Amino acid sequence: MTQPIPSFRATAGIVPGGLTLSLAGCASTPGTPRTEAATSADLTPYNTLALPARAARLVSVRHVAQLMALRRAQPRFILGGGSNLVFAGDFDGLVLHMAIAGRQLVHEDDDAWYVEAGAGENWHEFVLWTLRSGWPGLENLALIPGSVGAAPIQNIGAYGLEAGERLHRVEAIDMHSGEWVHFDRAACRFGYRDSRWKQEGWHLDGRFAIVRVTFRLPKRWQPQIRYADLAAELADVAQPDAGQIADAVIALRQRKLPDPARLPNAGSFFHNPVVDAAAATRLLASYPALAHYPQPDGRCKLAAGWLIEQAGWKGRRLGPVGMYEKQALVLVNHGGACANDVLALMHAVQRDVRERFGVELTPEPTFFPLLPEGAG
Ligand code: FAD
Ligand code: NAP
Repeated sequence: MTQPIPSFRATAGIVPGGLTLSLAGCASTPGTPRTEAATSADLTPYNTLALPARAARLVSVRHVAQLMALRRAQPRFILGGGSNLVFAGDFDGLVLHMAIAGRQLVHEDDDAWYVEAGAGENWHEFVLWTLRSGWPGLENLALIPGSVGAAPIQNIGAYGLEAGERLHRVEAIDMHSGEWVHFDRAACRFGYRDSRWKQEGWHLDGRFAIVRVTFRLPKRWQPQIRYADLAAELADVAQPDAGQIADAVIALRQRKLPDPARLPNAGSFFHNPVVDAAAATRLLASYPALAHYPQPDGRCKLAAGWLIEQAGWKGRRLGPVGMYEKQALVLVNHGGACANDVLALMHAVQRDVRERFGVELTPEPTFFPLLPEGAG
């Protein structure tokens, strides 16, 4: 179990698996505005790939009481910044756009700072705030789009750091029971770009709405600059501090990744495949330049961007979509694309990588509504 943080939530009960339940009076938050829904809402501005889609209802959630009032509405979908989504069609249900604000230092001891943020806080702004406040630890994750509440869903990661390594506790509303639930790090079952939300399908059915996340930032700070690009960016800095690392990460990302506001995209479109040692050895015999990273369990992570580039897709278009010219792993919308265009390109890239390398690429963003079996 994690260490307790002194707070009003200290009365919460604890159940096995590191999951904590409390029936805190979240429905009685004073001053809560009425829950007003937009009907037949346009979701285009709510996804960074800018795919057109509509939802029957859309509510901006600023208070937990709104979640309590709406928890019986079915079907539902929980939306953050829409930066890891492919809207595959219209949705005849309720979209809860998480906009719960607030961030604070909730505890400090000899070893660490504990910082908490509402699910609707912008992730990058949150990272910058921790750094300005003198609490290092999240700098490698600077400039990742999206919300704090979505960070645990795919255990966001970049430049050798995953959010799960710093996560202390997730607070969520169980939309079935109305209970206030706490997940500690173990209960989140983090994996590589993976978590219990994905494993259980909660990222699709909106079972647990994350309302707040607390991070533990150790005072014994160590720079993490083992990625070659980051090390090269900092080559002239003898002992980079957290702020300098964040600046380097931001500069690298601005150079290499498309800004969704200018060229809509959802970041890396495919997972980096992890193959067994025998498959890696076989591939390396034919492709000695294959970008690969041995894993602690003996398997080997392959750089999906390298495979896509070698398959001839870097900078290439199919209709209104294409694979980005500076990073082949990013699928971009050049204008006017719909979900079918994205699917056509996804399938073409998967086919070519499969035929050339015998490796299966799986998409990283969540498709919603879920595609029929076999379509994805
Ligand atoms: P959304 O896309 O809105 O939602 C993603 C999933 O989380 C959905 O299933 C949704 O239902 C669920 N969800 C969202 N909020 C909540 C909540 N409060 N409670 C319960 N469920 C919720 N990812 C990385 O890991 N590393 C990167 O370096 C990275 N770089 C990116 C760069 C670009 C240019 C882009 C466009 C994307 C990048 N991403 C990266 C992907 C994306 O930014 C992250 O996955 C991010 O965490 C998504 O946040 P979001 O708020 O936009 O979530
Ligand atoms: P990069 O540095 O060019 O590296 C290419 C790939 O090789 C990455 O996917 C990375 O895996 C892997 N890699 C590189 N150095 C590694 C090392 N020392 N140890 C283990 N793996 C290594 O990648 P990039 O495209 O410029 O992105 C930089 C970072 O931002 C990466 O961590 C990437 O995951 C992250 N990013 C993520 C998204 C997203 O949407 N998920 C979008 C943009 C960038 P990992 O991906 O496992 O780190």
